[in-house]
Amino acid sequence: MEKIYNITIDGPAGSGKTTISKMVAEALNITYLDTGAMYRAIACYVKSKKVDFNDTDTIVKLLDEIDLKVELNQGEQKTSINGKVYGEELRAHDISNGASIVCKIPAIRLKMVDLQREIARKYSCTLDGRDIGSFVLPDAEFKFYLTADVDTRAKRRWLQLKDKMDVTIEQVKADLIERDERDSSRELAPLCVPKNAFVLDTTNLNQEEVMSIILEEVKKG
Ligand code: C5P
Repeated sequence: MEKIYNITIDGPAGSGKTTISKMVAEALNITYLDTGAMYRAIACYVKSKKVDFNDTDTIVKLLDEIDLKVELNQGEQKTSINGKVYGEELRAHDISNGASIVCKIPAIRLKMVDLQREIARKYSCTLDGRDIGSFVLPDAEFKFYLTADVDTRAKRRWLQLKDKMDVTIEQVKADLIERDERDSSRELAPLCVPKNAFVLDTTNLNQEEVMSIILEEVKKG
């Protein structure tokens, strides 16, 4: 059996983590785990219960009834809570914000981190998130931190959203800045450059260039 290894890809919103993590996983024929989808699913569940994202006490109580499962099959991730699979609704604007609020609650993060570690133990995978190389898997074999200037990140995100909703680049940019601030300032496992991570500024790089730099680093071992 081949040795299991993990590639962590962290960075702020819009830095290209998700696309690159999927491409790298496909190129290496390993699994991809979207950890953000897990926090997004919790935000969807909290919203379905009509609980305010800032109502920490009620959300912590809800946690007992939340059975979150992640199924990974041929590049497809099914994230479900109590049997309900979440799809496109994970990407909604209010859910992006909700996820970045509920993920500040330590009990939520620790439950998700346990699941993420369990998956990483079983499969070779790329995992993208904010705290993977720093907190979830500090000893991962390969650690990357992607970044890009805020205007580039806002434009990328806006291009993904513009056909689905009425939103300006300025709104998307303000939103990214707010989420980055929340992610970087929380107490438990904030967004940061993990120790020994390879930092890649993707502002002037296309997806293929980013992927080949990462694959090159992985090949070096
Ligand atoms: O990566 P994505 O935008 O889908 O993540 C949604 C939110 O979940 C992020 O803004 C961040 O607040 C949170 N998150 C996190 N740690 C992770 C993954 C996501 O805090 N490992």
